[in-house]
Amino acid sequence: MMLHTSPMETQRRASFEQHSQDVLNLLGAGHQLTRAEIASRLGVTRTTITPVLSQLHDEGAIVTVATQSGEGRGRRAAILAIDPTAVRHIGVDMSHTRVIVILANNAGTEIVSGMKEFQAGATWESRCTTAIKFIQTLVSSHELHLRQLSRIAIGLPGSASWHFGFSEENYPAVFPSRAELKAESRTQVMQDSANDTRLRVTQIFAEEFHVPVATAHHIRYAAIAEAANHPSAENLLYVRLSSGVGGAVIDCGKAVVGAAKLAGEIGHMCVDHSDNAPLCRCGKRGCLEAFISITALENSWRKAGHPKDTFADLCEAAHQDNPERRTNPGNSSRTSRLPDSNRRAQEIVVQAAKTLGRAIGCAAVVTDPDSIVISGEVGNLLLTQQEVIQTEVDKEILPVAQSRVCAASVGFKAGAVGAVIASMSEANTASTPSTPPNLINPRIYDT
Ligand SMILES: [Zn+2]
Repeated sequence: MMLHTSPMETQRRASFEQHSQDVLNLLGAGHQLTRAEIASRLGVTRTTITPVLSQLHDEGAIVTVATQSGEGRGRRAAILAIDPTAVRHIGVDMSHTRVIVILANNAGTEIVSGMKEFQAGATWESRCTTAIKFIQTLVSSHELHLRQLSRIAIGLPGSASWHFGFSEENYPAVFPSRAELKAESRTQVMQDSANDTRLRVTQIFAEEFHVPVATAHHIRYAAIAEAANHPSAENLLYVRLSSGVGGAVIDCGKAVVGAAKLAGEIGHMCVDHSDNAPLCRCGKRGCLEAFISITALENSWRKAGHPKDTFADLCEAAHQDNPERRTNPGNSSRTSRLPDSNRRAQEIVVQAAKTLGRAIGCAAVVTDPDSIVISGEVGNLLLTQQEVIQTEVDKEILPVAQSRVCAASVGFKAGAVGAVIASMSEANTASTPSTPPNLINPRIYDT
C-alpha cells in the first residue's frame, strides 16, 4: 500500500518542527517558563504549543524543574526548562597527541569536558576511535544523553602541518626544497592530504553520531573562543607560540580562511630575508617560526653557553630577577646561576619579543585588529616583555589604529570552546546569543 502525505500534513509537520526549534531556542537561552509563558513569548496559542512541549518532554529535551507557586486553588503550572543532561553540541579539539572534548547544552553551556591522550604514532582512524569512545564514556559516566544532539564541530591541526604528515612535536630532519616541490604541487599535496583526512574524520563521526559534523583549523576555533571572551573585540589577531607558531585572523567575529585555507599562518611570515637565514619546516627560509618556536629559543639558549639546557631552563633563567621566584624553595637549585646567565636569558627573550612584535605589527597593519591575543608556552614567556612587543607593534600600525597586545584568556580548552561556538552558530539553534555562551566559566546543571 502506498502512503501519501498531503501538502497540509507536510505544512503541519514543518510548523511543528519550527515551534520545537523556537522552544529550544527560548529555553536554551536559560529561561524557565510555564506553558502559558512560552506560548505568549512565541506568539502562539496554548493549544498549538502543548503537543510540541509534550513531545520535547518525552524526547528528554526539556524537563519540569518546579511548579509555579500561586494563591489560587487551581492546578499549579509546571515550570519548564532545558534538560541539563541533554547534550546538544559537541566541541572537539584533536591534535596529534590528544583530544579535548566539551559536551554542551542548547545554550552552549558546558555540561562536562575532558582530555584524553592518544597513543604515540596513532593513525587518524585510531584517534577518531579513541575520541568517540571518550565521548561515550563522558556521556554514560555523567548520566547524559545524546537524543537531542544537534551537531559536532571538530578542530584539527592546520594545513601547514598536514603538508609533511609530521606532528608539531616531530619536525622532519630533511625538508623538501621549493625546487623539489613546486608551488602548484605543494598546494595540491597539502590540500589533498588535509582534505582526505578531514573528510575521513568527518565521515567517522557522522556515521557514529548521525548528525552534521564540521571540521576546521583548531587554532581558528581557539581564536573564535577568544573573540567570544572579548565581547568588545570583534576583530582579533590570534597567535599561538609553542613547538610551532600558528595564528588566526578574526574579522567581525568570523575566522578568515583564505583561498588555500592558509590565512593567519603568521609563523611563516619572513622575518629574515638573508640567503643564509634558517630553514623553516615549510620549506622557506627566515620564517618567524624558525626564530621563536620552542626549539628555536632552546637553540639560542644553548648557543649562549647552556648546551644541555631545555626551554624550561631558559624560562626559569629569564624569570630569575623576579623576587617571588627567587624565594620559592622549589627553585633553590637554580638560584646559584650567575647573574650573567639571567641577563643572557632576558636578552634572548627581549630579542624574541621584538621579532614577534615586528611580525604581528605588520600583520596588524593589514588586518586592523582590536586586540592581538598571544598564547602558548613561548607566548607566555614573551609576554613578560609585553611592553617591548607593544612598542614594536605601535611602530608598525597606523597612528590612528589601536591594536592592544594581550594574553589569551580562555585556556587550554579554547579550541573545543570555539568548536562549540561554531557548532551553535552553524546550527543556528541559539540564533547568535546576545551574550557569549557561558563556556569560559561553566555553570554545571544550573537548573
Ligand atoms: Zn615557514
